[in-house]
Amino acid sequence: MFFIADLHIHSHYSRATSKDLNLETLYQWARVKGIHVVGTGDFTHPQWFRELQEKLEPDGNGLFRLKNPPAMPALPGMKVQDIDVRFCLTSEISSIYKYGDKVRKNHNLVYAPDFDTVARINARLSQIGNLASDGRPILGLPSRDLLEIVLTTSDQAYLVPAHVWTPWFSTLGSRGGYDSVDECFRDLSHHIFAIETGLSSDPAMNWQWSALDRFTLISSSDAHSPQKLGREANLFNTERSYEGIFNAIKTQQGFLGTYEFFPEEGKYHHDGHRKCGISWLPEQSVQHSCLCPQCGQPLTIGVLHRIQKLSDRPMPQRPQGAAGFDYIIPLPEILAEIKGSGTASKAVQQAFHQTISTFGNEFNVLKEVPVADLGKQGGPVLAEAIRRMRAREVKPVPGYDGLYGVVKIFEEGEIKDLSGQLYLLGGQEKPAAKNKPAARKDKNKTGEDQFSLF
Ligand SMILES: [Zn+2]
Ligand SMILES: [Zn+2]
Repeated sequence: MFFIADLHIHSHYSRATSKDLNLETLYQWARVKGIHVVGTGDFTHPQWFRELQEKLEPDGNGLFRLKNPPAMPALPGMKVQDIDVRFCLTSEISSIYKYGDKVRKNHNLVYAPDFDTVARINARLSQIGNLASDGRPILGLPSRDLLEIVLTTSDQAYLVPAHVWTPWFSTLGSRGGYDSVDECFRDLSHHIFAIETGLSSDPAMNWQWSALDRFTLISSSDAHSPQKLGREANLFNTERSYEGIFNAIKTQQGFLGTYEFFPEEGKYHHDGHRKCGISWLPEQSVQHSCLCPQCGQPLTIGVLHRIQKLSDRPMPQRPQGAAGFDYIIPLPEILAEIKGSGTASKAVQQAFHQTISTFGNEFNVLKEVPVADLGKQGGPVLAEAIRRMRAREVKPVPGYDGLYGVVKIFEEGEIKDLSGQLYLLGGQEKPAAKNKPAARKDKNKTGEDQFSLF
C-alpha cells in the first residue's frame, strides 16, 4: 500500500516544544496533514514512555494504534479524510562528547519495533545519563557507542543520524560534526543505511558527494508542535509495518522518496551572522575568511557551504536506484502569502480550516488534487500558488544562522491581477472574471523534472 510516514518528531517533554504535543493531538494533526505513520518521539523519556505504554496498543506489525483515538477533529468542525494513523516508536539522542581533541555534538534517531526493545535501550542509556531531563536527552555517549548499544539490544532496532548537515548538532555539521560518516561511526559505520537530510538540504545537494551514495536519504518534520507535522515526510509503497518501512529504507525497494522543504527555507542554508543580518553564499564567506564583516565574529557556516566543502562532484548525480523527491511549502505559509497576513492570523486559520475540509488533508491539497479542481473549489489564486510550488517556480530567500528562510510564490501585486480583484478563499466570493488566464496544466505531476518523485 501507499503511505506517508513522518519519522522524527518530539513530545511535550522535549525542550522548546508545544505543550499540546501529546498522542491525541499527534493523531489529530497526522490526519489533517495526511500522514499514515507518525513517530512517537522521545521514547527515552520515562514519563512519555509510560504514556506510550498506557495509550498505545501494538498493531501486530511493529507499529502502534491509539487505544482511544479522539473523536473530535484537530480543529472544531474541520472535516478530514479518515486515516487509521499508526505510531512508530522513535527517539532522538543528543550526544555531546570529545573525540580526537574536538567536542562533537551529534543528534541521532533511534527506532524500535516494540516496548520491550525500548525498555532495554532505556535501561542501558539510563546508566549513562539522566533520561528524565529532556525528551531528547543529552548524553556524553559517542554516536558510535550509541549505535553499538542499539545494535546489541535488538537486530530490529536502528539508528539514523539526524539532520546530518546542521552546523551545531549533527554528524557532518560545520561545528561539532565529522568530515565523514565513517569517521563518526568507525568500525560500525556499515550499519548506517540511511541519513536524514534535514530541512536546509535536499537530496540533490547530497548527491554531490559520492560518499553518501550508499545511504538512503530520508526526511521528516522534526516537529516541535503538532501543526508542524509533515513539513518533510517519507513516501512508501510497501506493507505498512515496521519491517516494511525499514526494509524499504534499507533496500530502496518500496521507498518512493521524500517531500522536501525548499532547502533555502531551512534555518541554516546560507552562511551568516544573525545578529548582524549577514547572509552569504559560501564564496562570499570564503572571501571574508568566514568572519562577520560587522563584528568580526566567526560566521555560522551553513549547509550549502558545508556540502560544497565535503562533496566531490560539481553537479548532483543521482545514484543508481535512488528515490526522487518533490518540494512542498506548508499550506499555512501559502495561505499567509495569499492573505497577506501571518500564519497565525484569523484569516489564514479560517482559510486553512476551509481548505482542509474541502480536500480532506494537506498533502491532498499540496500534491494530489489536480490544479483545475483546486481552482474550482479553492479559487484561482490558491490553484496558481500550488501549481507554481509543484513546478518549482518560486523565489526563496535563504535562511541563515538559525533564521528560517522565506519562500515567495507571487510577485508584488500579482495576487490582485490573478483574480481580477482580490479573490480570497473563504472571503466574500466574487464571480471570477471570464477573461482571466486559466490555470495552466500541472506539468510537474507527471514528473518531467529529472529529480521528481514518480
Ligand atoms: Zn535534532
Ligand atoms: Zn556579526
